[in-house]
Amino acid sequence: MSLGTDWVLDWVRASATVIAENRVELITLDREIGDGDHGENMDRGFSAVLATLDSVAGDALPADVLKLVGTTLISTVGGASGPLFGTAYLKAAGAVAGVAELDGSAVVELLRAARDGIVLRGKAEIGDKTMIDAWTPAVEAADAALAGGASEAQILRVAAEAAAAGAGATEPLVARKGRASYLGERAIGHRDPGAQSTSLLLRAAADVAARLAAA
Ligand code: ADP
Ligand code: MG
Repeated sequence: MSLGTDWVLDWVRASATVIAENRVELITLDREIGDGDHGENMDRGFSAVLATLDSVAGDALPADVLKLVGTTLISTVGGASGPLFGTAYLKAAGAVAGVAELDGSAVVELLRAARDGIVLRGKAEIGDKTMIDAWTPAVEAADAALAGGASEAQILRVAAEAAAAGAGATEPLVARKGRASYLGERAIGHRDPGAQSTSLLLRAAADVAARLAAA
């Protein structure tokens, strides 16, 4: 079963819900190693995205929705994460341009393009204690699952699990990018907020795909 515009729309709605539910947690994480606005930034962005969904045409392609998410996040989120997540969705849109139904390899390319867009923009490497520490294991796990013949929903599930593990693995790290890098060793013991929000967004993607596959 491939994933179409319905999946993207439901993913966006589920993302807005999960970000709103975890707003305080993301604020708390960012208060520990940043300036405390990450939950607010993401919630503002995804609330704005939700409000734009009514304007999506009935014949919209997945890429059209992803592009709308990207442009809306860039114009509403602010902070470091706005342009980074915004670029991720814009690049994801580019990776699946013209495709109505995403198969497993399109899902992997979507994730890879999102990650590559964040790296292009923010220049973070794995281990820098940023959202890349969630995105890169997710892309690698997705790629391995695709090679193993997994379904789209299974690919997204392993990607979400790898992102969650990657977010957890940021805790012992010293940050080398973003505000947390000003803290030196004081960042140790705290989870990176952007890695956590990445894990939430990918879990939403997997949950929605699983629901559609079961329907
Ligand atoms: P700000 O740091 O401007 O307050 P946010 O709090 O919304 O913005 O986002 C912080 C998150 O952005 C961090 O937790 C980290 O995951 C991510 N981040 C910051 N700089 C970079 C970068 N150069 N590359 C990748 N991610 C980054
Ligand atoms: Mg912040």
